[in-house]
Amino acid sequence: MEKRALTDRTALITGSTSGIGLGMARALASAGANIVLNGLGDRQEIDSLVQEMAAQYAVEVVYDGANMLAPDEITTMVEGAEKRFGAVDILVNNAGIQYVSPIEDFPGGRCQAIININLVSNFYTIKAALPAMKKQNWGRIINLASAHGLVASPYKSAYVAAKHGVVGLTKTVALEVAEQQITCNAICPGYVRTPLVEGQIEEQMKAHNMSREQVINDIFLVAQPSKRFVEVEELGQVALFLCSPAACSINGISLPVEGGWTAK
Ligand code: NAD
Repeated sequence: MEKRALTDRTALITGSTSGIGLGMARALASAGANIVLNGLGDRQEIDSLVQEMAAQYAVEVVYDGANMLAPDEITTMVEGAEKRFGAVDILVNNAGIQYVSPIEDFPGGRCQAIININLVSNFYTIKAALPAMKKQNWGRIINLASAHGLVASPYKSAYVAAKHGVVGLTKTVALEVAEQQITCNAICPGYVRTPLVEGQIEEQMKAHNMSREQVINDIFLVAQPSKRFVEVEELGQVALFLCSPAACSINGISLPVEGGWTAK
C-alpha cells in the first residue's frame, strides 16, 4: 500500500465515540494514523466500532474509556497510548457537553461539569502528551472550541466561558511550544449536525412548542449566514490540513468554521 500522509503517526481523539470526534478519527485514520478512541457509550457498540475502523482504514485502533472529569484517568490514558505507540503525535481535544439555561436557574454542578469536560480536560491531556511530543520534536494539538469560543449567545454561560477558555489555553500552549515543531490550534465550528445538536433541537422543540423545521431555521441557523449545518466531514478535512506540512507555521489560531457567523 502507498504510504499515506499520517502513516506511523498516532492520534488520540477525546470524545470520539460520536459526532465530530468520530468524524475526526475517521479522517485521521483514512490518512493512515493509528487511532486511540475515547468517549462514553455502549461497550459492545464501541468494540464493534474499533473493529470496523481498523478493518476499513487498515490502521491500529484502540479504545480507552477515560472519563474527562477524572484527571488521573486522562493521564493514564495518555501514558497507555504512549506505551503502545511511542507517542501521541496528534492530540484532538474534542469531548464536550452542553447545557442551556438562564444563569440564575443554571445548576452549579452542570456548570462545573461543562468547565471540567470542555476545558480542564484539555489542560490535562496536553500536560500529559507534551513531553513525548517535545522529545520527538513534532506534534499537533487541535482543540475543539466553538463559534461560542469567539462570541456569546444567551443561556450558555458555562459553555461560552469554557470555550473562550479553550481559545486562551490554545494560544498559551502555542507560545510554549513555538520553537519545537509542535502546533496548537483551535477549531471553532458553528452548528454541526451531531447527537449533541440533535439533543438541543429536541429540547428547543419542547421548550417553545415549535416544529423541528422552525427550531432549525429560526433558532439554530439564524446565526449562521450560510443557512446550513457544518458537516462533520468538513471538520475532518480541516483537522487533516492542520496536521499537514502546509500548516506547520499555523500556531495559536482559533479557526472559525461556521458559515460566516463571527464575521457579523
Ligand atoms: P457529541 O455529543 O456527538 O459527542 C461528544 C463526545 O464527548 C461523545 O463521544 C461523548 O461520549 C464524549 N463525552 C462526553 N462526556 C464525556 C466524559 N465525561 N468523558 C469522556 N468523553 C465524554 O458532541 P459533538 O457535537 O460531536 O461535539 C464535539 C465537540 O465539538 C464538543 O467539544 C462541542 O462543544 C464542539 N462543538 C460542537 C458543535 C456542534 O454544533 N455540534 C459546534 C461547536 C463546537
